[in-house]
Amino acid sequence: MTSADLRPTPVPPNRSEPSALLGRDSAAAYRGLIADVAGRLAERFAAVERPWTGAAPADLGPAVAAVDLDRPLESFEDAFDEVGELYLNDAVWFHHPRYLAHLNCPVALPAVAAETVLAAVNTSVDTWDQSAGGTFIEQHLIEWTAARIGLGADADGVFTSGGTQSNLHALLLAREEAVEGVLLKHRVETGTPLRGVEVLPRLRIFASPHSHFSVVKAARLLGLGEDAVVTVPSDDWFRMNPAALDAAIESCREQGLVAAAVVATAGTTDFGSIDPLGPIAEVAAAHGVWLHVDAAYGCGLLVSPENRGLLNGIEAANSVTVDYHKSFFQPVSSSALLVRDRASLRHVTHHADYLNPAEAATPNQVDKSLQTTRRFDALKLWMTLRTLGPEAVGAMFDRVCDLADRTWDWIASDPRFEVAAPPSQLSTVLFRLAGADDDTHRRAREALAASGEGMVAATRVEGRIALKLTLLNPETGLSDIVPVLEALARHGKSVQEAA
Ligand SMILES: *Cc1c(COP(=O)(O)O)cnc(C)c1O
Repeated sequence: MTSADLRPTPVPPNRSEPSALLGRDSAAAYRGLIADVAGRLAERFAAVERPWTGAAPADLGPAVAAVDLDRPLESFEDAFDEVGELYLNDAVWFHHPRYLAHLNCPVALPAVAAETVLAAVNTSVDTWDQSAGGTFIEQHLIEWTAARIGLGADADGVFTSGGTQSNLHALLLAREEAVEGVLLKHRVETGTPLRGVEVLPRLRIFASPHSHFSVVKAARLLGLGEDAVVTVPSDDWFRMNPAALDAAIESCREQGLVAAAVVATAGTTDFGSIDPLGPIAEVAAAHGVWLHVDAAYGCGLLVSPENRGLLNGIEAANSVTVDYHKSFFQPVSSSALLVRDRASLRHVTHHADYLNPAEAATPNQVDKSLQTTRRFDALKLWMTLRTLGPEAVGAMFDRVCDLADRTWDWIASDPRFEVAAPPSQLSTVLFRLAGADDDTHRRAREALAASGEGMVAATRVEGRIALKLTLLNPETGLSDIVPVLEALARHGKSVQEAA
């Protein structure tokens, strides 16, 4: 049998039709298309008047489901108009000054422009021969970030899809280091071998109750036991208690368990609280345990002209998660994992003859990554730093942290509200409507979103629902936030009156 027997007869390409693919012949069409899309989007941005329409799933779901994907429209313009109906008309606009809900930022212009570059060139930063200069641009940003953290001369790292992946990656390295340690000790002490899988159920990870849920998810993916993540109590400011950490590690030791990693959070998702990194690092070092710092949210402090000191102690970490797509104003995705000792990245290295053979003389980022084909997200941060500079980014983050303080003061002084947590070290504000129960909060928040007056998040603090502002827009002011709070109070009141 020949290969021709396996395939149907191909239809030869019609050279007179315009190419659907980006290349030399379509360069002019590409220019027109991007200019057209940019023009249409610019009109939208100029016209957006509220963060969201409050559309319900029942409004949008059926309309999307009704599209017959087997029957294309006449033109790109038609497809864009359809997407306008199905998506853009009811999109959630993170740049709007009254979007105050989740950890989403408005995006830096140079980064958005870079996004079009990396999509068009379509570089994949897995190997040198698919990225060339792209590999060095990513590597330089990794070195820059590691230097900002203070990780030392042997540091390294890699861009990832987000904090979830960075945390998984870090805990994988920690797991492998811990298992290696146990196996070595066992061989030395008993002269008999032990298998790595036998160690997994004994491994423990220590984190505060306010650490990100991706830590528990990672433990599950890494084959650790159900109770692998030990919750270390936190203080009144939602920060891990280092003495309690010490005691928890000690108690595990006594039970014959193995402390594999301590996860300190530098900016908890709900409270923006920063675990005391210096004292935690001392405890981790005293027990010889891997310290991972999850700075997905707080990483913006690395470039802060005013608040860098809040991260003191981070330099002692074995690994660090940073989400540039949170506090560096980057479009999703843009994140990285940094490690103190580049040798630890060997735990994810696998050589394939067709891709990155062991004898390769070129730098191949895939050797350090959980992903293979990987976006050149680094270009966005690069263009941001080269255009705006790091201090401008840090100053924007300082501004939202300061705004959170002023918002907290405003809420604390208004009898219609009560604060639900002390002032944040970063940019969240937790509060309640005075005298309102969980259901009133839920419905007031929904009514607010549906009205388009603003968007806030909700979470639980000590068992009760609290409303949450996550401020990441440096162009938002108290004068944008107060009307949203007024509207919430109004909605809360009408919910209560209707009851
Ligand atoms: C957002 C967040 C994560 C997860 O990051 P993604 O980029 O959403 O995957 C992890 N840790 C903390 C503290 C976060 O705030």
